[in-house]
Parts: sequence; structure tokens; C-alpha cells
Amino acid sequence: MRFDILTLFPELISSVLGESIIGRAQKSGIISVYAHNIRDYSANKHRKVDDTPYGGGKGMLMATQPIYDCYCDVKRMQGEGKSKTVYMSPRGRIFDHSVAKELSQYDNLTILCGHYEGIDQRIIDEIVDEEISIGDYVLTGGELPACIIVDAVSRLIDGVLSDEICHEDESIASGLLEYPQYTRPPVFNGKEVPEILLSGHHANIDKWRLERSLELTKERRPDLYEKYMRDHSKA
Ligand code: SAM
Repeated sequence: MRFDILTLFPELISSVLGESIIGRAQKSGIISVYAHNIRDYSANKHRKVDDTPYGGGKGMLMATQPIYDCYCDVKRMQGEGKSKTVYMSPRGRIFDHSVAKELSQYDNLTILCGHYEGIDQRIIDEIVDEEISIGDYVLTGGELPACIIVDAVSRLIDGVLSDEICHEDESIASGLLEYPQYTRPPVFNGKEVPEILLSGHHANIDKWRLERSLELTKERRPDLYEKYMRDHSKA
């Protein structure tokens, strides 16, 4: 899968996504992430990318021309396949696991990051298929939200996670929150690892883990718990 991120701060993207699992997935060619500097496309002699809003109001807006030219260039670079363009925005559909799954079906995902007070509406109308928010709060720019989308979507692509990690067993994807996990040493500051986990009895361990997951989910996310119980009583 190919991600193209249109941004005023490409280094922010490469520093976050160049490390660890997502960095390795890029090196092995399973995904590719390109951060394009919108400023490089400015036709203004001072490389200006923003302007004051018509009608007055505080702050600056990102102007149409540099974003549109950047977008057209990206479209020329992208290969064939299913494509979607999203704009990171607090006005958008809230991002969650099901949105990540949906986005992972595309071959090319273009992500537009806003800054300042946002973007001229005409560019959104012209190139954006959907606005996506990462939550009900306002950030200074769309770069961190874009990295969150790339990370969450990439984890769902075959080969990105090692064989031992199955994203379907994890919190949310499984329908439940994950049970508590422990590693060595067996005693830390007087706190012992639950005995069952040292027993080697896999069926009992699985039962214990499911019970803890159900308990935690019921307590912290009654919405997920009810859905899980509904889905599993049908089965
Ligand atoms: N004036 C805009 C509004 O009230 O909707 C907020 C602009 S915000 C300061 C600057 C940029 O940060 C936005 O254009 C968007 O790209 C990004 N952003 C801020 N909060 C976000 C969120 N919760 N989800 C996704 N992107 C967000």
C-alpha cells in the first residue's frame, strides 16, 4: 500500500514513521510512505502558502494553489489501483478500528494535513473524498493525525506485523479489551505474576485470559461488552 502525505512539515512525518515496525515495513517494501512538502509547490516568490480568510476572522488559511499543484503531482506519481484522499480535520468522521480496516483496502491513500486555521473549502470540495478526525479535540496540525492513520492502517496489512503478533487478538479488534500481560521476573516489588500463567496449562490460561478480558471490557467499555455479548449469543 502506498501513502502520500501532503504537509508543510514533512520531517515530522518521516521522523515518526521512519522508526520501528512501520520503518521496517517501508524498508521491506510492504508499504511506502511519501511526505510531500506543499511549500515546494508554492508559485509565490516568497514560497507563501497561506492567506487571511475572506470575511475576516483570526488566523491564516492554507491557500488552494500550492495544495492543488502538490496533489496533481502526487496523482501523477501514484500507480493504478483503488485510491482515496482524506483530509485530517476535527470536523471529520471519528477514526477507529473499523475506519482503519476500511482504509487498509485501498492501494493508494492520500492524506492532506491542515495547519493554521485550516484549508480553503474549495480545495476540500475539489480533491477530498472524506474528512477524518482522530478525536474531539483540536491539534495544531494534521501531521500527528496522519501518522496515527498510517500506523493503525499499516498494522492491518499482511506482512507488517511479525507472525507472532496477530492484530485480530488485540484490544478492540477482538471485540474486547486485552487481558493483563506479564513477563519476567515472577515477583516485582512484592507483586506476583498470577499463578495460572506459570502452570503451562494452555486451556486454563486461555479461559483465565478470556475472563479477565470480559471483566475489563465490562468495567471500562460497557458499549463494547454489550456488543460482544450480543454477537456471541447469536453465534
Ligand atoms: N479551525 C479549524 C476548526 O475549527 O475546525 C481547526 C484547525 S486546526 C488548528 C489545524 C489543522 O490541524 C486542521 O486543519 C487539521 O488538519 C488538523 N487537526 C486538528 N485537530 C484535528 C483532529 N482532531 N483530527 C484530525 N486533524 C486535526
